[in-house]
Amino acid sequence: MEFNTAGLISLQEALDKMRAYVPKKTAQDTEYLPLAAAAGRITAAPVLSPIFVPPFDNSAMDGYALRSNEQRDGAVFPVAGKAFAGAPFHGEWPAGTCIRIMTGAPVPAGADVVIMQEQAEVSEAGVRFTATAEQGQNIRLTGDDIKQGDSVLPAGVRLGAAELPLLASLGVTEVEVWKSLKVAVFSTGDELQPVGTPLQEGQIYDTNRFAVRLMLEQLGCTVLDLGIIRDDPQALRKAFEEANEFADLVISSGGVSVGEADYTKQMLDELGEIGFWKLAMKPGKPFAFGKLKDSWFCGLPGNPVSAALTFYQLVQPFIAQLSGHSAWQFPPRLKAKAVTPLKKAPGRLDFQRGIFSTNAEGQLEVRTTGHQGSHVFSSFSQANCFIVLERERDSVSAGEIVEVETFNALLRS
Ligand code: AMP
Ligand code: MG
Repeated sequence: MEFNTAGLISLQEALDKMRAYVPKKTAQDTEYLPLAAAAGRITAAPVLSPIFVPPFDNSAMDGYALRSNEQRDGAVFPVAGKAFAGAPFHGEWPAGTCIRIMTGAPVPAGADVVIMQEQAEVSEAGVRFTATAEQGQNIRLTGDDIKQGDSVLPAGVRLGAAELPLLASLGVTEVEVWKSLKVAVFSTGDELQPVGTPLQEGQIYDTNRFAVRLMLEQLGCTVLDLGIIRDDPQALRKAFEEANEFADLVISSGGVSVGEADYTKQMLDELGEIGFWKLAMKPGKPFAFGKLKDSWFCGLPGNPVSAALTFYQLVQPFIAQLSGHSAWQFPPRLKAKAVTPLKKAPGRLDFQRGIFSTNAEGQLEVRTTGHQGSHVFSSFSQANCFIVLERERDSVSAGEIVEVETFNALLRS
């Protein structure tokens, strides 16, 4: 079976067009936050270390500190003092003596070597060493790891559990981050009811606003929820205008097809400018992107699977770019053996929901979650990856190799 896919743009073209809209950020878009409040935010400038790491010369071993030029075969060194981590030795220590030292303790002034305790024989008279050490041995020098003023994180990095403790270890108290993106969201459809309201005949619950809000919050956005908007041009115009007033990015769902109650595209055309509409992608064909007066606009399809998928594949990277994240990426795609047949027709890039695992031979395998209809949201909760089937590919038989893309944190539980 062949579909006419003329006029549909590819996912890659769509992503490229959206990226082309991303402006260069200016200094006005940043703020300083204490470390504890900066989780999930993105650095707006390189973070420089205020200190040297380590901040002082210290011992890498439990052992004895001495002057390397005093080492002689059989010499015995009386112990003149002790240096512990957090309790440095400050006294005088005569020539020919040594200082007992523990790992992490500051090396006493004058010492230029530490000999580990495993190479020491201790008697009443002092310590005799069974090995000699080179100058500097077992001493971690000031600034070995990081110099004061070194850049420890570039701009454009998302701050998480791998980054914030590093900054804490340097005594950084606050960090310059991009302001969080303001996003307005609404659902359209006369049939929609908010969760918590009884359903009347012909009504369904509004899944998309719930899903989109959740994902926006995970992406660190500030959300304005405008609720459910009826399929009425007046009401929609008002929602578009209010959303545009508040937000950097406006996201709607539904009404983006070609039905009689589908006004989204008309509104975008009237109040702004259509960037593109209709993707050669399944699910998710009716996706609209464009610009309103002061904001960007993404019109998600109504079907919940299509809405979640287009949000994930198109809006998520766009938000990352608008938020100043410079190296944002999807997880790399992997090759896996399909262990179930996969139904597909050529014409659109297909994102089926799959479950991948490693078999007894250590090879990646993937199977379908079953029915792939764009209203079957349970396919997301059962899946751990997308099976990405190329645009021109036909149905897949069991045993064929396919590409899988594991879910990132947005969809992983
Ligand atoms: P539409 O694009 O508005 O024609 O919607 C396509 C399908 O998705 C219809 O079956 C709608 O009832 C359904 N739908 C639209 N919006 C939502 C929503 N927010 N939550 C759940 N289903 C929706
Ligand atoms: Mg609708």
